[in-house]
Amino acid sequence: MSSRPTSRVSYIWSQELQDVSDDLPSNIGRSSLVHGLIRALDLLEEISMDEETTEASANPSKLKKAMIVPPDESLGTEECMLKYHDKDYVDALLRPRSASPPRYDPTAPRNGTDFAPPAKRARNKEPNVREYQDMDKHNLSHDNPPFQSLPRYASLITASTSTACRLLIQDQTDFVICWDGGRHHARKNEAGGFCYINDLVLSLLLLSKEGKIQLNQKKEEEEEKNFKLKPKTKIRSPRILYFDLDLHYSDGVSNAFHSNKFYSNPTISNDKNPTKPPTVMTFSIHHSSPGFYPISISSGRADLTNPQSTTPFSLSIPLKAYTCSKTYKKIWEGCVEPIVKSWNPDFIVLQMGSDGLAGDRVGQFGNWSVDGEGGMKWCIERVKKWGKKTCITGGGGYNHPNTARAWAAITASLLDRPINAETSIPHHEHFEKYAHSFTMEVPEGHMEDQNDPNYIAQACKDFEQIASRIEDIVASSLR
Ligand SMILES: [Zn+2]
Repeated sequence: MSSRPTSRVSYIWSQELQDVSDDLPSNIGRSSLVHGLIRALDLLEEISMDEETTEASANPSKLKKAMIVPPDESLGTEECMLKYHDKDYVDALLRPRSASPPRYDPTAPRNGTDFAPPAKRARNKEPNVREYQDMDKHNLSHDNPPFQSLPRYASLITASTSTACRLLIQDQTDFVICWDGGRHHARKNEAGGFCYINDLVLSLLLLSKEGKIQLNQKKEEEEEKNFKLKPKTKIRSPRILYFDLDLHYSDGVSNAFHSNKFYSNPTISNDKNPTKPPTVMTFSIHHSSPGFYPISISSGRADLTNPQSTTPFSLSIPLKAYTCSKTYKKIWEGCVEPIVKSWNPDFIVLQMGSDGLAGDRVGQFGNWSVDGEGGMKWCIERVKKWGKKTCITGGGGYNHPNTARAWAAITASLLDRPINAETSIPHHEHFEKYAHSFTMEVPEGHMEDQNDPNYIAQACKDFEQIASRIEDIVASSLR
């Protein structure tokens, strides 16, 4: 992929995907805002994959654009969801609900009785009680109330991120964007943190299964001839990096792929058959403080990963309040780059939740920026340089205009069409939402970064060691 002069960018979208994503109770209307701005900035190519011959005439300006690909519905069936989720939970998600309970905004301040969670209303024997009585069992209440379009939402979100990953597997694209996906808190048998279906886990499983890597056959045959080795299989499992930059810890994904296997150091142990590396590595950089979601972490997996940990493939860097871009830059250079170099992934799934930006009403502890060194755009430029097949998803982001600005800027960066903070918001149907600046600027925060520089330096030191362990484990598995 890195040898290509320009990379191909795809964009998962359909009108129905946008409509049902707009119904997500934690983010009512966000999807329209995001896609509307990206479309207004003229970043999308409105043709389908099998109409490539019309590309030149469809884009006379020759500006690079992202190719729209609708979600493949065959990747969002109940059977697909059951690859990870339990049957009774999937049944609850897909159960038709003839009417929604009154709209409940789980992100609104809870200082009154107007916004009683739907489960409570159901217990109070309001209409539709039978349709909603399974809610508490699967945590379908409070933060995660069911809604009328939930069955279609679950199917289309599953289909979206899986379609994105299949495009990578089939080498139909280099980068694929799926802003409606990225539901990293959903668990096997319950909803969590505004997430109902774990499209990320399902897509990572699809990548693991279908993304096998063909080995260099010539080199293999030569080795067999020279060393009289018995013929080896000509494919290997992919190495996949799940990388999460949402303000919240990626508990749903990290727990799904966590293994208690012990990975000895193959360079110093006498183990003749060292444990093979897993297919999926998870890596979450997130905020952590008492009471901050997800609070039910008892395993310590959300702590700073110890270099001596049994597994160096479930990585976490917790950060204190108001992490600014300068700190993100230090972590990127000292922790992220060494890990990516040593793991050398075949595929990357990057969750770019934007609730770490300053001014997010749910994130609250974020102080990240879109622009500047260490900002979101700066990070995306580094991801591009890795030259890996990458799926970029959305996630959190509760200041909707700023989320739209950030994800539009990332989309533009992937297309080598960088947008500046001063760029005016084009006139379109949601124009008034961008008052009062009417520009792409996401104002930087002014809170003091609470991270101790010594802690960041220690994290970098620890991750150097972890990267070295990973490099040895990968090398020994390829021998
Ligand atoms: Zn989040």
